[in-house]
Amino acid sequence: MKIVVSGAAGFIGSHMCDRLLDEGHSVTALDNFLTGSSANLAHLKSHPNFRFVEQDITKPFTVEGPVDCVLNMASPASPKDYLEHPIETLDVGSLGTRNMLELALAKNARFLVTSTSECYGDPLVHPQVETYWGNVNPVGPRSCYDESKRFAEAITMAYHRKHGVRTNIARIFNTYGPRMKLDDGRVVPAFLDQALRGESMTVFGSGSQTRSFCYVSDLVDGLFRLMLSEERYPVNLGNPREMTILEFAEHIRKMTGTASQIVFQPLPEDDPKQRKPDITKARTILGWEPRVALEDGLRETVAYFRGVHAQNA
Ligand code: UDP
Repeated sequence: MKIVVSGAAGFIGSHMCDRLLDEGHSVTALDNFLTGSSANLAHLKSHPNFRFVEQDITKPFTVEGPVDCVLNMASPASPKDYLEHPIETLDVGSLGTRNMLELALAKNARFLVTSTSECYGDPLVHPQVETYWGNVNPVGPRSCYDESKRFAEAITMAYHRKHGVRTNIARIFNTYGPRMKLDDGRVVPAFLDQALRGESMTVFGSGSQTRSFCYVSDLVDGLFRLMLSEERYPVNLGNPREMTILEFAEHIRKMTGTASQIVFQPLPEDDPKQRKPDITKARTILGWEPRVALEDGLRETVAYFRGVHAQNA
């Protein structure tokens, strides 16, 4: 297939490009580097089936030649990034998604959008199942991300219903792995960076809030399967192994052998208290479930971060 990927220079986007090329597809990669990095795609520069176009997808654009599949993966995704770029975040989820849907419509291509567990907000249903409509603060600091993704889901369904576009919606839960930015503020790079430097590890709140962490290769496999499926409604993709943030910090301390102490800092506003995907739907429809244990995924991620530290030294 000829596949267009937006957000290709991002953490998950770049891993998705690798997988698509490995499967023999050709990729036209789009990114405007607002939060992505050209280093994530450097190894693909001379790949015969890979082409990169610097493009802000909120502006009108077209892609030459036939396209079979459009993957809309562009968005700031870490709380630090979307709090810094709230307007761009709203624009990319709305205008950007619409432009990518128009591309799919014009090319008669299938379309997949990467949405988020943030659609559930601070969830009152646990674990989160796709039929839960969520508990989102529409005017809180995270609303620029949550509502742009909820809009992205809504317009995706509208293009499917109105124009018959073959669409898929993935709700991605916390994902980690190599190519995360060291300073993107999310808990995995934050704790690993602090642990590797021997600095204090900053647990927000009491650390009793929970998350469930999925390794990026598992996530990409779920996205790949979903892209080929006929499921039009959202599908959760994430790892159901849930833990408190404090447990996670202890885990990283043990794993890295760091002498870092844990320090407590204020909990950011609207920080969800619990999060764990119900992945029954993905298991049933896609035959998918995560395979990489947290210990193994973290080992790979630590090796990557050590490499980045060595380069920066
Ligand atoms: N967190 C933390 N210390 C940090 C960064 C994050 O305790 O240095 C917490 C954060 O408050 C949240 C969880 O870790 O409860 C996950 O945060 P992240 O930013 O990775 O993503 P989120 O799941 O909130 O989108």
